[in-house]
Amino acid sequence: MSFTRCTTCARRCGADRTRETTKPGCRVGRLVRIAELGPGRLVFAGCSLACLFCPTPVANRDGVGRAVDAAQLAAILADQQAAGIWRLDLVHPAHVAEQLAEALDLSPGLTTRLAWVSTAFDGPEALAALAGRIASFRPEIKFGCDRTARQLAGINGYVAASRAAVAAMLDQVGPMAPSDPDHGVLVRHRVLPDGLAATRDALGWLPAGVPVQLLDDYEPAHRAGQHAKLRRPANAHEVAEARAIVRDLGLTEWGEKKPANRKAGGPEAVIP
Ligand code: SF4
Repeated sequence: MSFTRCTTCARRCGADRTRETTKPGCRVGRLVRIAELGPGRLVFAGCSLACLFCPTPVANRDGVGRAVDAAQLAAILADQQAAGIWRLDLVHPAHVAEQLAEALDLSPGLTTRLAWVSTAFDGPEALAALAGRIASFRPEIKFGCDRTARQLAGINGYVAASRAAVAAMLDQVGPMAPSDPDHGVLVRHRVLPDGLAATRDALGWLPAGVPVQLLDDYEPAHRAGQHAKLRRPANAHEVAEARAIVRDLGLTEWGEKKPANRKAGGPEAVIP
């Protein structure tokens, strides 16, 4: 990976992230930018997708957040551990994988388990940079059709890139098991109205045994109004149809009672 000709995420735009005047596809330069920080949750600003329906465009598309260097990021990780956080969700981490690796090099005593929560548009270099350091992956496979991904998220090659990324994650940690929701791969997939997510194609290639969490909470946001089919939530029939597809593919739908990251009480019970 190189910051002067960046190919970190699957967009591989080649931007020089060391130049203040450059605007890379992810909108983030040499320093990590933090959009949100709370117990068990660290959201990075910037994203290499440009979804019309993005619920947080200021952080994601404009890259607005607090800039931190590797030492400051390491201090944040240490603070989470000191606060008793046993799993830290790293949200939108792909474009800052190298900075994360730098921070982890400064954190030899970190025992908080790291969860990678991404759009699945994660480049092989990003995943390789953190191999062995991420306990669980929760990629959201957003589209099963490249044409739709181009129309709705402004990217090319989403299907192949997302499949390669999830396969690499599975190689690293295997599927998530109900007995340990902090280790392994859990694929997420949001049901979009009118079948826009192409659920069967998005999930149909997954090996048996990979759990799938269907997200039925799509709400029109940002520039969703520009696309006629994005102007409403998915209806009950569309959600039921997605559930039927998951069953038909022989995959297991996963449900969690509620996310919890604090040490006290340990992991929440999981209903597979
Ligand atoms: S992380 Fe992706 S979008 Fe950002 S500069 Fe690198 S290749 Fe481009």
